Amino acid sequence: MADMSYSDRDGWIWIDGEMVPWRDAKVHLLTHALHYASCVFEGERAYEGKIFESRKHSERLAASANHLGFELPISIDALEEAKLAVMRKNELHNAYVRAVAWRGSEMMGVSAQNNTIHVGIAAWEWASYYGDAKLKGAQLDIAEWRRPDPLTIPCKAKAAGLYMICTLSKHAAERKGLSDAMMLDYRGYVAEATSANIFFVKDGVVHTPLPDCFLNGITRQTAIRLLKERGIEVQERHIMPDELEGFEQCFLTGTAAEVTPVAKIGEYSFEVGALVRDLVQAYDELVRSHVTAD
Ligand code: PMP
Repeated sequence: MADMSYSDRDGWIWIDGEMVPWRDAKVHLLTHALHYASCVFEGERAYEGKIFESRKHSERLAASANHLGFELPISIDALEEAKLAVMRKNELHNAYVRAVAWRGSEMMGVSAQNNTIHVGIAAWEWASYYGDAKLKGAQLDIAEWRRPDPLTIPCKAKAAGLYMICTLSKHAAERKGLSDAMMLDYRGYVAEATSANIFFVKDGVVHTPLPDCFLNGITRQTAIRLLKERGIEVQERHIMPDELEGFEQCFLTGTAAEVTPVAKIGEYSFEVGALVRDLVQAYDELVRSHVTAD
């Protein structure tokens, strides 16, 4: 699959204010971020040329940087401009947009006080994250790794370091032929999947974990709003894993996942029911309608 490598493609990537040919968008080996995970990023999706909730993503990137103790060297407005410039330069309309900020190479040790902060933006066409799961429902494992205590790591940051346990959990799931894993948190409550938030349905009521030690996803917030607009009750609360037995439907939300139904988590099965299917459609219409949530 060498021809599929993300480092070997045609196109342009924005780095620190310059459009760089795709294959030349490199960082040095002695980059602090590579060794010490001093890196934050965003995953965004553009529909028909417009990035859904673009500004919220840029604001979260800046907030994530602050959680890691640094400031972005670029304003939110300039970041918004740069993302659009990348879309235009690569002639993209429906795309995934990856913005990333990281500490450079001036100091190479745990301390990185003098390191320059860099920002990059890439975008590419990207199909459905979970393939045909949109129709059939995704099959999930239950991860062995748990979301950490907020006292252990800045859990509200979309920071590279937090994805170490996600990759381990996702790989373990893939070895079993499953598409993702549901992670518990440090207390044993249901938390989220490896790159998406999770929801359950029972008796017409939607239940979702309180985002008190993981990302309160932009898609999660959008889904809650869409559900409430439809008069559906949404309970944000702590959920124990043994409650899965009683839930009828389940779905994931995330920029990449959009709204994806779940058919199975470990030994528990769920139907791809009307509520989930309606929400998939409502989200699809919203992101293409160019309406920005308040
Ligand atoms: N949790 C994790 C760990 C994620 O990586 C993501 C994707 N950014 C989400 C939740 C969902 O966030 P959003 O809806 O903002 O994409």
